[in-house]
Amino acid sequence: MNSRARSHRSRQLYRQSLQSLPGGVNSPVRAFRAVGGNPVFIAKAKGAYLFDVDGNRYLDYVGSWGPAIVGHAHPRVVRKVREAAAEGLSFGAATERELILARLIRSAFPAMEKLRLVTSGTEAAMSAIRLARAHTGRTRIVKFDGCYHGHSDSFLVKAGSGSMTFGIADSAGVTPRVAQDTISIPFNDAESVEKTFQRHGKHIAALIVEPVAANMGLVLPEPGFLRLLREATGHYGSLLIFDEVISGFRVCFGGAQHWYGVTPDLTCLGKIVGGGMPIGAYGGRNEIMELVAPLGPVYQAGTLSGNPLATAAGIETLTILSQSNDAYEKIDDITTTLCKGLGEIISRRGVSARIAQLGSLFTLFFSKKQVKDYRQAMRCDLHMFARYFRSMLKGGIYIPPSQFETNFVSMAHTQKDIATTLEVMDRALGLVSKV
Ligand code: PMP
Repeated sequence: MNSRARSHRSRQLYRQSLQSLPGGVNSPVRAFRAVGGNPVFIAKAKGAYLFDVDGNRYLDYVGSWGPAIVGHAHPRVVRKVREAAAEGLSFGAATERELILARLIRSAFPAMEKLRLVTSGTEAAMSAIRLARAHTGRTRIVKFDGCYHGHSDSFLVKAGSGSMTFGIADSAGVTPRVAQDTISIPFNDAESVEKTFQRHGKHIAALIVEPVAANMGLVLPEPGFLRLLREATGHYGSLLIFDEVISGFRVCFGGAQHWYGVTPDLTCLGKIVGGGMPIGAYGGRNEIMELVAPLGPVYQAGTLSGNPLATAAGIETLTILSQSNDAYEKIDDITTTLCKGLGEIISRRGVSARIAQLGSLFTLFFSKKQVKDYRQAMRCDLHMFARYFRSMLKGGIYIPPSQFETNFVSMAHTQKDIATTLEVMDRALGLVSKV
């Protein structure tokens, strides 16, 4: 499908973009560098499909990296955004939509007694640790290797996502002093958590975690791991921050904290809460959130925070999800069908690969062992992944262009789409296993 003849315009735009944008893109993984070939330039999207500038159609498993849970350009969401746009794009003043969205979020995340809307997941996580430091009067932050919390300095220490893909998990430009305040330890390693708190506990302001790690590929928490984090932070008076930028409204309406029954002190959200428009949110207990300006001494602000278009898209997306009795059941079922089919292909073809799945999130790891942390994720066969990716793209299936990312299924994906995907997967894995 995406043969050389049918990628002419994408190639041309990429060449031109290289003149104006570093690597031709505005976010690194989009450049396809880890998988070879040129990036596809997207013209439009509808439901479960993307359409590129050369007229190729792709079944999409990136979903804008998570937000597109109700499918692209959902008519109800588009209508609300249009209506909002006609009334003005931004006022820099309080609006009713912010209140409505905040109430919707609080109904799903009761632990977010108060919350602040920001413009990205990066801002949400960055603000949450500032707040945790102010609340505790401590400096150090604990995170996990391969977890990604946006690109603010404190988190670019053994970070996941694009920084893992390109081998710059410790970014240049982060001062040693800042990096020193971040302790990064292996995910799913109870002993490391205990040791870290025994050694540094009274200096730790917060432990931040993706409760469902989705930026080193999908890695689920082992039974009891999140509870252990709750206990360790509670014992040492540190805050527990759940970064639910991906898992929020994704693993279920109430996110991973509802799914696993573990309540954090602060929660970060993004992606789905903005329905595809730029947004983020952080929130938690009243007494902590009341430290944020204008009530308290923690400064945090934003020209476009609570933007009318973003809140309109977010409200409608959350409303669609909350009005449906079986939205999650359906996407989870369809994803399970896909993963089961994929599992059969892998064993039939004798491919060394493992599947991780939770609800509508999944990753195919080219690994002999089930991946439970960063170290194991790094051992995956990246050449094999690159071949698989290229073959999927050629077959009209758009998956994340990195082994260290998660696939996202949406409400717009149908059983027929899954059957098509499995056919292409079978061919792709056939080629991969022959080399
Ligand atoms: N936290 C998590 C868990 C994420 O997956 C991401 C982005 N993929 C972020 C934070 C940063 O969000 P943004 O890209 O909106 O800044």
